[in-house]
Amino acid sequence: MNKNRNDKQQMKEELQGSSLDFIGNKTNKKKVFIETYGCQMNMNDSEIVASILSKKGYNTTTDIEQADLILLNTCSIRDKAERTIRNRLQHFNGLKKAHPKTKIGLMGCMAERLKEKILEEEQLVDLVVGPDAYRDLPHLINELEDGRKAVNVLLSKEETYADIEPVRLNSNGVSAFVSITRGCDNMCTFCVVPFTRGRERSRNPKSILAEIQNLSDRNFKEVTLLGQNVDSYLWYGGGLKKDFAAQDEETKKNAVDFAQLLDLVATNFPKIRIRFATSNPQDFSLEVIKSMAKHRNIAKHIHLPVQSGSDRILALMNRKHSIAAYKEKIDAIRQYIPDVSISQDMIAGFSTETEQDHQATLALMDYVKYDFGFMFAYSVRPGTLGAKKMEDDVPHHIKLRRLREIIDKQQEHSLYRMKQFEGKEVEVLIEGNSKKSDQHWMGRNSQNAVVIFEKKGNFQPGDFVQVKIDDCTSATLFGKPVV
Ligand code: SF4
Repeated sequence: MNKNRNDKQQMKEELQGSSLDFIGNKTNKKKVFIETYGCQMNMNDSEIVASILSKKGYNTTTDIEQADLILLNTCSIRDKAERTIRNRLQHFNGLKKAHPKTKIGLMGCMAERLKEKILEEEQLVDLVVGPDAYRDLPHLINELEDGRKAVNVLLSKEETYADIEPVRLNSNGVSAFVSITRGCDNMCTFCVVPFTRGRERSRNPKSILAEIQNLSDRNFKEVTLLGQNVDSYLWYGGGLKKDFAAQDEETKKNAVDFAQLLDLVATNFPKIRIRFATSNPQDFSLEVIKSMAKHRNIAKHIHLPVQSGSDRILALMNRKHSIAAYKEKIDAIRQYIPDVSISQDMIAGFSTETEQDHQATLALMDYVKYDFGFMFAYSVRPGTLGAKKMEDDVPHHIKLRRLREIIDKQQEHSLYRMKQFEGKEVEVLIEGNSKKSDQHWMGRNSQNAVVIFEKKGNFQPGDFVQVKIDDCTSATLFGKPVV
């Protein structure tokens, strides 16, 4: 889901341990340490949980030794992500001995997938809470304080946490996530998300605008609208997306879809740069493309996961579009937004994938020449149709060889795309110091490319700066501010 450039960054994607520091409510006496793994939705959920717990007497801390409660916000997208959590839990043996009162909880997708079973398998764990049950945390903590283990993994048909103001954690004070939908109805045969995050439901646009207004008042300059599948956003008064068809004509007429939400946000906040993730090609509409082209403040980047370049494999993945239709959407995007950047998700080695299917993936990449991408070897997820009905029959070494070829091709195309910026001026939103030098700013252009440039003039994080690009790698642009 979070889509920054370069392979190393991508590989780290699964494990974004981020510790937090938040003073919060001074009367709060307890401390919670939240460590977040996986996607942007999880990042935003950790912020929602910090907000819920701040009303239950907990402030966040970066010092795990000080924590009364440790929460791991987990990812289940691949087997490796879950193994990482189990390894991390081993590290807590000593801590639990030193601080026997400290409680350990698992939240997020792995918690939802494994439910009570975690308590049997991981003795250290006291609390298991799923992505739709965070509002119940105060009650679950009462159970912990009464010496019991606590579990709530109920999925919801309504929950969007619309009224909860997230606590911006690990924030650069410039860009923030705003969730607009939860869950997914698409049932791609390789994906565990529909089982761990439930059915699709959209958030009231009024609460989305109110949250962005709050961010704007605090001088944030960029928001990323989040959802497993933002294109199927549809507000019609609450409830599941799948129940929309049964609504009366009046309700349908007044419904707000994703293109309309983009218009609303862009029009109401002209000084805020707007990004969104993640799109699904089968739901991605021409209206969304037109909204992006119409508003200067909607970032010119689209993450459009395709997973394979073979129609036969797409059908097995239950992806409801053909490669021809996908190419038509790419062409339409480039026609309406010539300076757009496009990124991808690819899976190498899905069940029954032949060399011919793999070559079709490489051919699609040659057609699109993506700016960057997230590429993984197929990892069977328990409970999915892929696990139940299909053999994981592509040998591991073949998966890795094909993955290498896909990554190498992407590297080549990323460099090709980055070189297009050389000699040009781009508008960069400063996010902070470059990791490598505090004499340089780091920011992103509208196409979501990382730009590093020397500190000249009195710019600050949150400023939009014109930068003349004079060099690049496949992952980073380098330049000088136009002062
Ligand atoms: S669209 Fe498919 S891959 Fe994406 S979250 Fe939904 S089921 Fe998973």
